[in-house]
Amino acid sequence: MIQPTPNANGMSPRSLLPKLLRKHDGKMTRELLLHPGDHGLGMTHESMQADATTTAVCGYCSTGCGLRLHLRDGEAVGLTPETSYPVNLGMACPKGWEALRVLDSEDRATEPLIRGSDGKFAAVSWDHALRLFTTRMKGIQRQHGPDSVAFLSTGQIACEEMAFLGALAKFGMGIKHGDGNTRQCMATAATAYKESFGFDSPPFTYDDFEQSDCMVFIGANPCIGHPIMWERVLRNQNDPEIIVIDPRRTESAMAATQHLQIRPKSDLALLYAITNHLIACECVDRKFINNHTEGFEKLCEHVSRFTPDAVAPMTGISADAIRQTAETIGRRKAVSLWWTMGVNQSYEGTRTAQAIINIALITGNIGRPGTGANSITGQCNAMGSRLWSNTTNLFGHHDFKDSADREKVASSLGIDPERIPTEPSWSYDGIMDGIRRGDIRGLWVIATNPAHSWIHQSEARNLLDRLDFLVVQDMYHTTETARHADLILPAAGWGEKSGTFINSERRYGVLKKVRRAPGKALADFHIFRALASYWGVEEMFAEWTDPEAVFRIMQRASEDQPCDITGIQGYEQIDRCGGVQWPWTEADAEGDFQPEQQRRLFADGRFYHHDGRARLVVDDVTAMPEAPDAEYPTLLMTGRGTVSQWHTQTRTNKSPVLRKLYPNEAYIEINPEDAAAMGVENGDQVRAQSRRGSLLATAMVTPTVKPGHAFMPMHYEATNQLTLGHFDPHSRQPSYKDCAVRIERA
Ligand code: SF4
Repeated sequence: MIQPTPNANGMSPRSLLPKLLRKHDGKMTRELLLHPGDHGLGMTHESMQADATTTAVCGYCSTGCGLRLHLRDGEAVGLTPETSYPVNLGMACPKGWEALRVLDSEDRATEPLIRGSDGKFAAVSWDHALRLFTTRMKGIQRQHGPDSVAFLSTGQIACEEMAFLGALAKFGMGIKHGDGNTRQCMATAATAYKESFGFDSPPFTYDDFEQSDCMVFIGANPCIGHPIMWERVLRNQNDPEIIVIDPRRTESAMAATQHLQIRPKSDLALLYAITNHLIACECVDRKFINNHTEGFEKLCEHVSRFTPDAVAPMTGISADAIRQTAETIGRRKAVSLWWTMGVNQSYEGTRTAQAIINIALITGNIGRPGTGANSITGQCNAMGSRLWSNTTNLFGHHDFKDSADREKVASSLGIDPERIPTEPSWSYDGIMDGIRRGDIRGLWVIATNPAHSWIHQSEARNLLDRLDFLVVQDMYHTTETARHADLILPAAGWGEKSGTFINSERRYGVLKKVRRAPGKALADFHIFRALASYWGVEEMFAEWTDPEAVFRIMQRASEDQPCDITGIQGYEQIDRCGGVQWPWTEADAEGDFQPEQQRRLFADGRFYHHDGRARLVVDDVTAMPEAPDAEYPTLLMTGRGTVSQWHTQTRTNKSPVLRKLYPNEAYIEINPEDAAAMGVENGDQVRAQSRRGSLLATAMVTPTVKPGHAFMPMHYEATNQLTLGHFDPHSRQPSYKDCAVRIERA
C-alpha cells in the first residue's frame, strides 16, 4: 500500500500550498480559501526561475504532446514543442502552438456571476457565489430528494480535479447521478474493451505507429483529428499498407494505400465480412485463439452469413476489395487497427469496436510491437475521466455494485463505505431524461458545453431551461451553456493550474501552473475544495490539500487494479521519464527501476477476465433508425473540420491565428452531382433541414462525400440542431453521424 510521502524534492504536500491557503493549525478558513491566493505562481513541483523553461503536456487533445514553456519572471510567455518527449518528438499542431494565446481572451470568466431577476448577470464575491450554490442545491435536495441534483463532468480537467469533483459530489454532497462529456466520445470504446478484455484497457503505445507493417484506420481521420499521431505514421520505415475505412474521402483516406469508401453505418457488416474471409482463407492464428480467447466457434457461426459477396451490396465495396483487405490483414506480420469517433459515435458502436477487437485477436495481432485493437481517445484527459471521474464507474474503475470494491475505495479515501452509492450513476442521456421528467432540478456543469455539443440541440437547450438551478463552471462566461446558467463559477484553464492528464496510450503527463488565472478565477481544484468547506464536508477532504496529495490517494485506490500506479514516485518522476504509462506497480518499480517509455499491454496473452481469456463478442447488424427518404433524402454525417478547431470552439475561436486557419462560418460538404441537381454552386448559402431543426450554411461542393451524403463539422453552433437523439444501447454514447436531412438553396 502506498502511504502519503514527501515528494521528490523533499517537501511535504502541505508545504507546497500557497501560504494564503493555509492557517497556522493546518485548517482552511473560508476567507482564506476564497482569498485570491490561487493567483500566485510556484505551485508546481519545481521552482520556476526567471527566464527559465519548464515542460508540460498539452491541454487539448488526447495525443498528449509535451510542450516546453518559456518563462519570464516565472510566467510563461511562449512555448515550443518538446523534442525529448516520447509522444511528439518535437512536433505540435497549431492548437498546441496557440495554447497560451487563448488564455488572454476578453471572454474569460473573471469573477462569479449570478443571474438576477432581470435575466442579466451581475458579479458577486466568491463567498456569495458559494453560499448561493450550497443554499440552492441543498434546498433542491431537501425538497425533491438527494437525487434531484446531478453533475456533468469533463475530459478537460486534470485527473486530480475530476477525482475531487466525483468524490465531493457523490460521497460529500450525496449526489448519485453524474456523468461526463466523455460519454460523447469514449464510452463506446470503454464498454467494448471492458466486455472483450475484462477491463477498459487500450493496449497500445504510440511506437506501434512506427512498428506496424499494416495499419487499418476505421472511422478515423488522424491527419485532422490527431495530426501528431499521423506524423508518427509517416515516420514508419516498414513501407506499411495503410487501409482507411470511412464513408468520406478524408485527408487520411487520400494518403492511404487502400480506401474502402463504405456506405455510412455499414462498418459492422464490412468487419464481419473481413472476419469471414480471414477465417475462410485460414489467415487466423489458431494457437492464439485456442490459448487466449473465448467464443471462436460462435464467432465463426455468426460471420458465416457475412460473406464478401453478401456484404458487398450493403457496403458499396466490391467483394474482391473486401477479400483483398482481409488478405492484406491476414498476410502482414504486424497489423494495428485504430478507431475513433466514426465507430464510437454510432448506434451500434460497441459491437463495431468489438468486431475490430475480434480481428486483432483472431489474427494474433495483439501484445506485439506494431499491433493492437487501438481506440484513440479524443480529449486531453478522456482516459483520466474513464478511471477517475467517479461517475458511472467507482473511483479507479471499480464497481459501485461490488461491496468489496466499495470497501476498498472507502479505505483508500478514509471515508465511511456507507457514503458510497451502491448503484452507478445514470449516463448523460439518463440525466437529460431525468430533467425531462422533472426528477432532476439542479445541474452543475463543469468544463463542458452541452448547449452546443449535446445531440438534438433544441431539446437539450429546452431541458437546461427547465432546471430550477443551473451552475456552469468554466474558463469562459460566453459558452452556449453559460447563457442558460443561473450561476457561473470562473475557472482557471490549462497553464493556470497543476495536475495530471492521461493520454490515449495510457500515459500520465504533468500539467503545470505557468500563468496566473485572470481576475478572481480559481483552479477547479480550489473551487471543489472551497465547496467542500461550504457544504460542510471539509473534514472528509482534509488530505485533499493539493493535486499531488490527491494523486497519492489515486495511487492507493489503484492498487491491484489493471490501472495500478502504485509504483510512480510522483510528479517529478512522471515529468523526468517523459510521462508514465499505466500500469506501473510497486513491484514494477522495485529496486528503483524506472519505467520504459513505450509499454504495451497483453504481451503474455493474459487478459483481465478471471480466466485470462479475451471474449470474442458478436451481435446482429441493426438498421439505421432514420434512413434518408423522399422528404429528407440526404444522409448527414458530422465530425471534425480542421486541425485548428477544437470541439465547441470555446478556446480555439479565441486565437486570431487559429481563426485564420479554418472557415469561420458553418459549411456543409455536398457532392457535385447533388449540388448540380439542387442548382447550388460552391460558396452558395444553403438551408439544411432535418425533422428537428434547420440551419444556414455555406455549400462546399466536393467529391469527398458520395452522392446522397453530406458532412458538417461539429464545431459550429448550429450543427446539432439537425442531429437525431439516438444512442448505442450498451455504451449510451450518442450516434452523431447518421440523420436524414433536406438541403436546398437558401
Ligand atoms: Fe496538443 Fe493534440 Fe495538437 Fe499535440 S496534437 S499539440 S496534444 S492539440
